[in-house]
Amino acid sequence: MRKTLFCGLLAGCHLAANAQDIFQKDYTKPEATEVWEPKPKIVTPGAVPGMVAPPSDATFLFNGKTLDNWVMSADGSPCQWNLEDGVMTVKVGSGDVQTKQKFGDCQLHVEFRIPAEAKRSPDRNNAGNSGVFLQERYEVQIFDSYRDETPLYANGQIGSIYKQVIPLANASSKTGEWNTYDIYYTAPRFRFNGSLEKPACITLVHNGVLTLNHFEIQGTIQYIGIPRYELHDKASVKLQGHGSAVGFRNLWIREL
Ligand code: MG
Repeated sequence: MRKTLFCGLLAGCHLAANAQDIFQKDYTKPEATEVWEPKPKIVTPGAVPGMVAPPSDATFLFNGKTLDNWVMSADGSPCQWNLEDGVMTVKVGSGDVQTKQKFGDCQLHVEFRIPAEAKRSPDRNNAGNSGVFLQERYEVQIFDSYRDETPLYANGQIGSIYKQVIPLANASSKTGEWNTYDIYYTAPRFRFNGSLEKPACITLVHNGVLTLNHFEIQGTIQYIGIPRYELHDKASVKLQGHGSAVGFRNLWIREL
């Protein structure tokens, strides 16, 4: 089992290393799952779309007017993030937020903006750090990776499934400007005894550029250690509050 998990991680990280290297790593340290190379190629988006109107069968998660669909992840209390000019913005220090409604397979549209001052953060880990968690577990990373000017491991930069895969391209907008994520997601399937039958799968289009192509998610995101699956049912869309005032607008979802 252990070897299977390690091999799965390797496949996800596109990491070329022999088995001996893997077993010599100390997986109690976060550095063990950082992959710095190769850096994804930088692609300038054709044009970042403005507000994309949802199709007729979509459900708004955030329409610019109310935070009523959201609660604090920690305790289910009302969402404390800021709502101003149609944008919901991370209230630094408040924590993650998540939808009241639970989802499985879905098409999810997200628009987000990393603050212009992100690079001046004294802590690079907070340089535009946020994220979109599918089913509360699987993070599509948000980070200030514009032109790769903020040093970070490649499998933790914008558009990665955090610490699992390097995106196929870096199509970031400048800080202070809007990005779009269009996410096509198939939830994991579990057997009646709780074991994994089929991993979750994700395709990501970032600013009109395909950056993840049917990637098999390796399990629940881990900052330290190896991802693994745990049995779960439908679950919320979660947005990460991670020390940076990232803004969101026009969030909608189609259940599949
Ligand atoms: Mg994050």
